[in-house]
Amino acid sequence: MIALDIVTVLFLNQSSLLAGAAVFMIARQRRSPSSGFGILAAAFSLQGLGAVLASFGEQAAMPVTAWTLGSLTLGMVGHGLLVLGMERLRSGRLHRVWRLLAVYPIPLWIAAWLTGFHLDNQLRATLFHLNAALCLLVASRIVARLRRVEPLPSCLPLEAVLAFSGLSFLLGAGVVVFVADFVPWLALEFFVQILGNFTIAILIYSVATDRAERKLALMAELDSLTGIGNRRWLDKMLPSRLSPGDTVFCIDLDHFKRINDRFGHATGDTVLVAVAATLRNLKRSDDVLARMGGEEFLLFLPELRSSDPQPIAERIRDAIQAIPFQHQGAALTVTASIGIAQVVQPGEAWPDLVHAADMALYEAKRGGRNRVVQARRVPQGLVSA
Ligand code: GH3
Ligand code: MG
Ligand code: MG
Repeated sequence: MIALDIVTVLFLNQSSLLAGAAVFMIARQRRSPSSGFGILAAAFSLQGLGAVLASFGEQAAMPVTAWTLGSLTLGMVGHGLLVLGMERLRSGRLHRVWRLLAVYPIPLWIAAWLTGFHLDNQLRATLFHLNAALCLLVASRIVARLRRVEPLPSCLPLEAVLAFSGLSFLLGAGVVVFVADFVPWLALEFFVQILGNFTIAILIYSVATDRAERKLALMAELDSLTGIGNRRWLDKMLPSRLSPGDTVFCIDLDHFKRINDRFGHATGDTVLVAVAATLRNLKRSDDVLARMGGEEFLLFLPELRSSDPQPIAERIRDAIQAIPFQHQGAALTVTASIGIAQVVQPGEAWPDLVHAADMALYEAKRGGRNRVVQARRVPQGLVSA
């Protein structure tokens, strides 16, 4: 076994915790309070101060009760705060358990007063290790929950490092209880914790950065009015190769300009939001819906089994017409025209398919609007039926 000097290792451990606290404090200034960084900074600071106190105590620089109970309390509350901070980072909310943390040390102090357990190095170290192991494993579970909802690149490594760090504390507790000369083993364990502290701080910071990037990417691809995807998003969602049965609906609201002119732009916006919601409710889960601009939507229906998509489009047209709009007490009906194009041969090009659907839409408009027209596709060209 590598022989590590316990005093040096503990000194480096304190430094790693205080460096982590500094990272979180900087992050706290740059992010919103609900990001959890304030709590995480407090968590690492308390753990670091607890460790500093313990090393002063070991050098007999302080009264024994003050440093033993002080370092244990700071360490335990510090690890508890780590859980609280991770939960805040995940959910944005302050979990009810924070009140419990405020009274957490009281039973500890009462037990110390009654039994004097804190003066027993082995007992104190076991308690500290078990609490740390539990908190780190719970923190790892919190990250696992976050990963299910937001699959950010830093989540899995963070989950693993927290779990590893927790298990190493658990192992440390075992060593303290079962190995007579446990100090060299503890030096090794704290060396692992130092690496863990740095990695945890960096990965938590990365989670917040990944999150901000993901939010920006999503915002750039979502239409701010209706909340559905835009053209850019559609491009990302399309399959790399079209297959027979893949179908496109180009949906355009009829005389929408008149709605804006007569009832105002705000009413026009309300209509667009309601139409987008109706389309979203009607589409199948793997259909792709996008707002192409203005009052025009595109619905991509991959591998539609039916070669007659007309009834599906008619259902959509009916649903739009049935949306109950009102303006100053008067009913207002909105209609849409739909152009359909379907892939017949494998490997057809997307621009050709959309062009065909657009031409069919144009036919529907010319034919009087509030209707569905399907393009008749012929290889290398298209003719509306
Ligand atoms: P057609 O039946 O031939 O499609 O006629 P139309 O009036 O629907 O088509 P046109 O292209 O002439 O007008 C589209 C209108 O949609 C014009 C534009 O002001 C309006 N529009 C585009 N984007 C928005 C928006 O985000 N909100 C609102 N309220 N109106 C919009
Ligand atoms: Mg229109
Ligand atoms: Mg239009």
